[in-house]
Amino acid sequence: MERFSEDTIFAPSSAIGGAIAVIRVSGAEAKRTRELLSADPTEVPRVMRHVEIRQNGELIDDGMAAYFAAPKSYTGEDMAELNCHGGMQTVQKVLAALGSLGFRPAEPGEFTKRAFLNGKMDLSAAEAVMDVINATAEQSLKAALLQLHGSVKREIDSIESLLLDALSGIDAAIDYPDEAEADTVEALPASLDQAEARVQTLLAESLRGRVLRDGLRVAIVGRPNVGKSSLMNALLGSNRAIVTAQAGTTRDVIDEKLNMRGVPVRLIDTAGIRSASDEAERIGVDRARGELATADVVCVVLDASDPPTNEDRALLEETKDRTRLVLLNKSDLPRRIGNVDFGSALSISAKTGEGLDQLRDAILSLAAPERSDGTYITNERHISALERALSALTDAKQAAELDCAATDIKNALHYLGSITGTDVDASVIDRIFANFCVGK
Ligand code: GDP
Repeated sequence: MERFSEDTIFAPSSAIGGAIAVIRVSGAEAKRTRELLSADPTEVPRVMRHVEIRQNGELIDDGMAAYFAAPKSYTGEDMAELNCHGGMQTVQKVLAALGSLGFRPAEPGEFTKRAFLNGKMDLSAAEAVMDVINATAEQSLKAALLQLHGSVKREIDSIESLLLDALSGIDAAIDYPDEAEADTVEALPASLDQAEARVQTLLAESLRGRVLRDGLRVAIVGRPNVGKSSLMNALLGSNRAIVTAQAGTTRDVIDEKLNMRGVPVRLIDTAGIRSASDEAERIGVDRARGELATADVVCVVLDASDPPTNEDRALLEETKDRTRLVLLNKSDLPRRIGNVDFGSALSISAKTGEGLDQLRDAILSLAAPERSDGTYITNERHISALERALSALTDAKQAAELDCAATDIKNALHYLGSITGTDVDASVIDRIFANFCVGK
């Protein structure tokens, strides 16, 4: 790839207000950072040196500096890194001193963008950088780290090579129709089929990927007083939702994030899907219905110590086609619910904690199967590119003529290439990095 050269940029890479601030400089003139320093870190690249930082003879700070010569740096360009004291005054002075050398402040994500443009990482790995920073649960972090290490690229590369095989076979058959061996022609659909199956698997597994990135959305529904808030609190292990013996207190939707055995989960306690008597309640009920409609898993809570009501039956009917768990709460009290037709149900007690471990098992088993190597497509952009690639492959298999099939396969390759960044518009790249933080 052609080297990417532009202005020399700088930015603080650490959060403001820490003890130490990390300030990075990248670009063709990064070496000039030494003009501000009492010792020259470019003499021995990649080694930290103790330095005084000065501007026009005035001492600004006492810190550390390192220099990374291109291409052995994060961006692939010459880079300098300064560690100075983290106070606002110091950081601003150091930034001003760097500005006085003619460097300019970096845009959000510009370091990583340069790393991508200089071929230090593929686009999917660059995108994973922010996922690593934003990961809220252990398994989310693991998936993001693997992507940073090229897990997505490896999958895409191997699908691409299947498709390139298919293409060269097709080209040979088009160029030399008489000489093409029968088994070569027959082998074409096989490599297409293999590629299609790989894309389908990646898409199927991306459900878990999305869960790892955005959280599994679990809606808790039930009529008032069955114990929804209590259940939510028991799962959260704190008393965040209001619990009261009076029906209908949890008016609005309560949404809490938790880390369930390393998987991020969003628990959504709804106002109760019931007919509203006033405007405020109607708004709550509408929101609750919206949450219910988009939840990955619906937990219908029934009160096992009460005979079932029409409202319970209506809810069971309404959710019967959803990925659902029926929970018979208050199992610590004498059972009076009788035999409602709810299929299989879990007995739990939000009060004593009975059955909650089984409930966690059941919720996580619905979070899509786990892959042993932890590789998942988690990014919406990648998922939609895979969906387009899949539809192009379906077209290829249905094409009446070989050259139409070849065009469809090339389309599929284009969509796959947009994931790793070998075939992507500059505007897409700009949009991706604009969502990064400054200094990354
Ligand atoms: P919600 O309206 O569905 O959110 O119900 P709440 O969580 O506010 O609970 C209603 C009442 O049932 C409160 O008095 C809770 O203490 C009680 N409750 C909730 N879960 C249990 C349980 O498992 N066992 C018993 N005995 N009481 C419970």
